[in-house]
Amino acid sequence: MSDYQLAQLPWLADAHQRFVDVHYRGKNSHAHLIKVDNALGGMILAKACAETVLCQQLTPVGACGQCKSCLLLSANSHPDLHVVKPDGNQIKVDQIRQLCQSLTQTAQQGGARVALITDVERLNIAAANALLKTLEEPGNDVVLILQTNRTSQLLPTITSRCQTLAFKAPDKHQIQQWLAQQHLLPAANEQGKSHDVTWCLSVVGAIVVFGREFTESTLPTIVNVPTRLGSKFTIRTFNQQFIVIVRTTNC
Ligand SMILES: [Zn+2]
Repeated sequence: MSDYQLAQLPWLADAHQRFVDVHYRGKNSHAHLIKVDNALGGMILAKACAETVLCQQLTPVGACGQCKSCLLLSANSHPDLHVVKPDGNQIKVDQIRQLCQSLTQTAQQGGARVALITDVERLNIAAANALLKTLEEPGNDVVLILQTNRTSQLLPTITSRCQTLAFKAPDKHQIQQWLAQQHLLPAANEQGKSHDVTWCLSVVGAIVVFGREFTESTLPTIVNVPTRLGSKFTIRTFNQQFIVIVRTTNC
């Protein structure tokens, strides 16, 4: 399994550029909500936004990739980027308290301090409440970037304090095009009819998960694709058509 880069997921480009434009003009808000499912690359977009904020030589199209901040980010060792992910099924209050404490300290690279919280719908109540004050008054040069897979599960007190980054999910045509470019579509049958595999994407967890699991080398074989429901699909190709079997066992 390989992970994707931002440039490989074209449906993220507009939202990313919108974030860069605002930041480049120096009008950046201090709290952003990215309503883009991880299965569509939400985390990849959120990370690119964090890079935009931290880059010391931002270009009109995004982080430069060459300054000290960008190099630290690509080595996953930027001291002013604080990433919080769920611990098990929840983001717990101690994680948020520790984050808020870290954000009160001076930036080590002299720029902004960025909190990147993924899967924010998993904040438990205590953790969400602990985050509210920092969301409201984050302090100078602090930017919070929140990514969510389930907007409906977010507390209104969280969403109302953030600026939502506009995003348009890829339509079926874009998805088919992308799958074809990634060589992830089975060949057309003898009548020239191509196979539509988009129907299974919502169950598998959308396109990025699908793309991660499949490569040209795994296509002829059986592959297990974990779903967000905790079970697995077993997918095998037969006469170059997909056969999808849902497993009832958990991962
Ligand atoms: Zn840079």
